[in-house]
Amino acid sequence: MGAVILDGNKISSEIREEVAEEVKTLTAAGMRPGLAVILVGNNPASEIYVRGKVKSCEELGIYSEKHTPLDTISTGELLELVQDLNRREEIDGILVQLPLPGQVDSKKILMAVDPAKDVDGFHPVNVGFLSTQRPGLVPCTPAGIIEILKRSNIPIAGQEAVVVGRSDIVGKPTAMLLINGNATVTVCHSKTRDLPGVCRRADILVAAMGRAGMITRDFVKRGATLIDVGINKVTDRAEFERLFAGNVKREEAFRAKGSTLVGDVHPEVAEVAGAITPVPGGVGPLTIAMLMVNTVKAAKMRRGAEVPALSRV
Ligand code: NDP
Repeated sequence: MGAVILDGNKISSEIREEVAEEVKTLTAAGMRPGLAVILVGNNPASEIYVRGKVKSCEELGIYSEKHTPLDTISTGELLELVQDLNRREEIDGILVQLPLPGQVDSKKILMAVDPAKDVDGFHPVNVGFLSTQRPGLVPCTPAGIIEILKRSNIPIAGQEAVVVGRSDIVGKPTAMLLINGNATVTVCHSKTRDLPGVCRRADILVAAMGRAGMITRDFVKRGATLIDVGINKVTDRAEFERLFAGNVKREEAFRAKGSTLVGDVHPEVAEVAGAITPVPGGVGPLTIAMLMVNTVKAAKMRRGAEVPALSRV
């Protein structure tokens, strides 16, 4: 029997409906949540991400505004923009789309965002809140992973969880959330010895390396839950064959577009896993949904309102 497919689009729609309801209530009380997005220059991938975020705000009734300085902006000028947004009462969330151009000191910019408005959850103050289990803003992709597990009734407490990847954006905060959920957590990276052996211990295996289809069947305990965070574009024919040989639908799409998206988990894993998130349509949709959750959460926390259960991740 194949694995249960954990449908990220469906879970994301549920969350978005809940957020839209909350936005309605807050707006009626004169507290419409507001998000400001800063997009420097014209990186095509960043433009797509930002468009998706602004569109989501519109759909859910959240106020949004986009700032698009030229890619020649200096650190000082960008700091001024962030500080201006920090001061504005009607702005609850500030998102600085990464990467920033080379001449800009990214760390300095991210440090300048008011932690109360840091809807990406990257500020060290929020990282500290997460690791000490205090209320704060949690990075969106890791928070989305926990929502997928919870809403699919996959237990976390007492389970062996293995996270492959230790980035500040995905791997580390995911590990922290799983620890806070009482899992027994192992974090792996490029220097881990016997990665397949460590991964085979996992009841919950989170793959966040950015390596196309690297997690093959021999990394996986039968019945395990696989959370595939990776988003990799495959353009090479031989690589495509390694991943999707015999998959007629993918073959047609690959021929038409010359590329296809794959996660860090090889498709063959669906034969041994108990549950698995697809790519696309798994973790990806949750990332924007949780940004919306964070914007509402920031709006409520800034005004001292009670934080709803949905936002407690
Ligand atoms: P990073 O490149 O910052 O981190 C990758 C991590 O994987 C590092 O810790 C690295 O180890 C580890 N790693 C790399 N290769 C191996 C290997 N062969 N064996 C073991 N560990 C390895 O990536 P991100 O965390 O930012 O993103 C990871 C993936 O998730 C990417 O594909 C990205 O596109 C995707 N992503 C998806 C999102 C979504 O919404 N679905 C959101 C954000 C990211 P080391 O530290 O030793 O170098």
